[in-house]
Amino acid sequence: MLKRLAIIPAALGLALAWNEPSIGAGAFGRTDLVDASTAIPALRVDLKYATSDNFLHRNVYGDLDRCFLHKEAAGMLAKADHFLQAEHPKYRLHVFDCARPRRVQREMWAIVKGTAQEPYVANPNDKTGSIHNYGGAVDLTIDDAAGKALDMGTPFDFFGDLAHIDAEQALIKRGRLTKVQVANRALLRQVMMRAGFQPLAVEWWHFNSASPNETRRRYRIIE
Ligand SMILES: [Zn+2]
Repeated sequence: MLKRLAIIPAALGLALAWNEPSIGAGAFGRTDLVDASTAIPALRVDLKYATSDNFLHRNVYGDLDRCFLHKEAAGMLAKADHFLQAEHPKYRLHVFDCARPRRVQREMWAIVKGTAQEPYVANPNDKTGSIHNYGGAVDLTIDDAAGKALDMGTPFDFFGDLAHIDAEQALIKRGRLTKVQVANRALLRQVMMRAGFQPLAVEWWHFNSASPNETRRRYRIIE
């Protein structure tokens, strides 16, 4: 039964006459990394770590303010955008974080190491580090027709159980999340997962284009 169900998203994709997006030239001197805005012209790019509006309260990205992704992840994000447009033509994807070089990961790790924020930053010395370091992860929300981010119940980089995706129904019952907030998250997950992304249990905004093992095997880290 599961196998038969798995065929359905592919069939729906065909029904929508999906066309591969044109993806521009490389980034970071690499041909496997691209600017996601070339595949999704309407993408709202708002990299929080390129500003001081983040939990570190400082710009750790310097002049890196574009959404670079592995070309496979960029193609998948374009598919997610296509699925969103099909359902809500006036909504658009709004990204907070995309590719993050390992040197930035090291800098962020040095800032949080030994603090309460340490669990929320991947250790660059671990086997994989962060999938963002391969251009395989994207943090995002959805903007409505007025350009206002949908209410997801917490802001980006809210660290706590309210940002977790695995107990949303219980959080509704306890009055901590509304049905609308959970429906907005479900819409984001629906378009991203249909495009092949995998969600993260503890951050509603984070999606990986491949598992950590697959990422290490097929993508190359950005130094
Ligand atoms: Zn992330």
